[in-house]
Amino acid sequence: ATPTSIMVGTGKAAESGILFKGGEHLEGTHQLQAIVLDKTGTITKGKPEVTDFSGDEETLQLLASAEKGSEHPLAEAIVSYAAEREVDFVETEDFTAIPGHGIEATISGKRIVVGNRQLMEQHGVVTEGAENTLVDYENSGKTAMLIAIDGHYRGSIAVADTMKDTAPEAIEQLKALGIDVIMLTGDNERTARAIAKQAGIEQVIAQVLPEEKADKVKEIQLQGKKVAMVGDGVNDAPALVTADIGIAIGTGAEVAIEAADVTILGGELLLLPKAINISHATIRNIR
Ligand code: ADP
Ligand code: MG
Repeated sequence: ATPTSIMVGTGKAAESGILFKGGEHLEGTHQLQAIVLDKTGTITKGKPEVTDFSGDEETLQLLASAEKGSEHPLAEAIVSYAAEREVDFVETEDFTAIPGHGIEATISGKRIVVGNRQLMEQHGVVTEGAENTLVDYENSGKTAMLIAIDGHYRGSIAVADTMKDTAPEAIEQLKALGIDVIMLTGDNERTARAIAKQAGIEQVIAQVLPEEKADKVKEIQLQGKKVAMVGDGVNDAPALVTADIGIAIGTGAEVAIEAADVTILGGELLLLPKAINISHATIRNIR
């Protein structure tokens, strides 16, 4: 490998918005056999909006007040929704985020829990009556959350995030290059499958806790594959480091960009097949 051709390759990539931290990553990109994509903020725009809410006024007030303590994109969607409806936010006495599951808070002496089924189960909240509605939300690609107050089910809220326009085309191009494409998400299986289907992805790893994302990447490496991880979140950083090539979304968290070997500007997914094409062209020229 001549240093000059590597420089030409990384320079060409940079002009297109693909920033390699070092020339060696161009060689690594050339060898890729699988690409793991985070869902929220990577395949989707990461700006979710509330589509459905069922519950009374008090439930919305406590829900929104509790979510004010969370920095999760889902929380931001809920807070905006409530603000638009001129809900009076009330002071939270204590707040706990349960990564990958939801949140808990105490407000005016009431205990509110918001999150997925597992979280409700942990608190012994009966949510069977909500199951059909939940499944409908999830089959249409929405993220559904359950709300309990003082141990009783009080309502549900669904949030939808739009897919990036170029995601299906980028994924098709990656597959045409012989790359295995896999979606990795903390969201539930049904929601993940619905979004994956729209994007043209068959392989889905869902309900993965933030601290388990890197382990999933390792499992693919143990199958003997050179793998890239593409992600935007703080939660993705360990997986970005573990992967043979970590690719950060330029619009994502600073921590993710620091952990990655490559950054794609603007989060444009078409830059993924482009990076591979540039790496092939460069390495082939060298040999
Ligand atoms: P993702 O990988 O999509 O960012 P997370 O691992 O952060 O997902 O969260 C997984 C699930 O936990 C969410 O789909 C949601 O059901 C629940 N959850 C996470 N944060 C919150 C929150 N602030 N409020 C309610 N539910 C939440
Ligand atoms: Mg994300």
